[in-house]
Amino acid sequence: MFQTTIIREAHSEGVGLHTGVFGHIRLVPAPADTGIVFRRIDLDNFPIEAQGHNVAKVSYATSLMKQGVLLSTTEHLLAAIYSCGIDNIFIDIDSIEIPILDGSAEPFMQMLEHAGVRKLRRKRRYLKVLKPLEVAEADPGRPGQIRRIGIYPADEFRVRCYVDFPHPLVGQQEVEMVVSPETFRHLLARARTFCFERDIAPLREMGLIRGGSLENAIVLTDDGVMNGPLRFPDEFGRHKALDLIGDLALAGLPLLARVEAHKAGHSLHTQLVSRLLADPTLWTISTDEASHAVEEVPFAALSPAPAAD
Ligand SMILES: [Zn+2]
Repeated sequence: MFQTTIIREAHSEGVGLHTGVFGHIRLVPAPADTGIVFRRIDLDNFPIEAQGHNVAKVSYATSLMKQGVLLSTTEHLLAAIYSCGIDNIFIDIDSIEIPILDGSAEPFMQMLEHAGVRKLRRKRRYLKVLKPLEVAEADPGRPGQIRRIGIYPADEFRVRCYVDFPHPLVGQQEVEMVVSPETFRHLLARARTFCFERDIAPLREMGLIRGGSLENAIVLTDDGVMNGPLRFPDEFGRHKALDLIGDLALAGLPLLARVEAHKAGHSLHTQLVSRLLADPTLWTISTDEASHAVEEVPFAALSPAPAAD
C-alpha cells in the first residue's frame, strides 16, 4: 500500500459553529511523509500538525493548539480525510475554526471527491496497536455510571461506538464498522451535529455556539426534534462515531486497531490518542497491513518504493 495525497485543490467557506467566525478552507496536495497539516494562512502559513501532541482544551469540539495558535472544530473534516485514506494533505485556513457547513462530514466528502486521490511513491506507514489501552472516567451527568474508551490490536481499522442519551428519539444507539471510504460515506458522513434545546441558552451565554443555527445542528426538544426530518433514525449515534474517527485521526498515521467507545466524547477520545502515543510499547510502525508479516520500520529508514501507477 502506498501513501496518498489529493490530485487538485478544493475550496469551501462558512462560519465556525463555536466562534461564529467566517473562514475559508482550501485543501492542497502535499508530498509523502507530510501527514495532515493545517496552515493558518492568516498567520504567515503557521503549520499545526493534526497530531495528538497538538490537542488543546477539549469541551464541545476538538481544538488544536501549537505555540499559542489555536484551531477549533477539526473533527468532521479530519474524519472525512482519515476515512478516505488521505495520508498527506495541507488544509489552508484563514480563521480560528473549521467551518461547520451543514454540521456533517458530507460537504467535506464532496470536497475530497472533487480533489481526487493520488498515490505517491512511498509506502504507507501504519500505527499498529500491539497491546490494549483503556481510559475511563465518571459520567458527571449520571452518578455511578462511567464513560470509557479502549483500543485493541486488530488487522484493520474498526470502530464500535455506543451512546445512551435519555431522550425518546435517542436512547441507546450503537454503530460498529470497519472504516473505509465506502463505509464512511454510506454510514456516517451525512450524520449531523446535534444539541439539546435546554442546553442552548447556557451554551450561548458561555459564547460556545456563536455560529450555531437550525441549518448546522439538529436541535432536540424534550420529546422530539425542532428541525427534522432526521437523515437516519439513529443519526446521533452515527454522528458520535464520525466524531470518534475524526479524533482518532490525531494518531497521525492510519491505525491498525479496533476502538470501542462507550458514551465517550472528545475528551476521552483525545486522552486515548495522547496516552497511546506516549507509550511506544503499545504499538509499532508497520508498512504492512497484514499481521502475519509485520515488518518494523524505523522512521528514518524508509526508502522510496516504486509507485503502483
Ligand atoms: Zn461532531
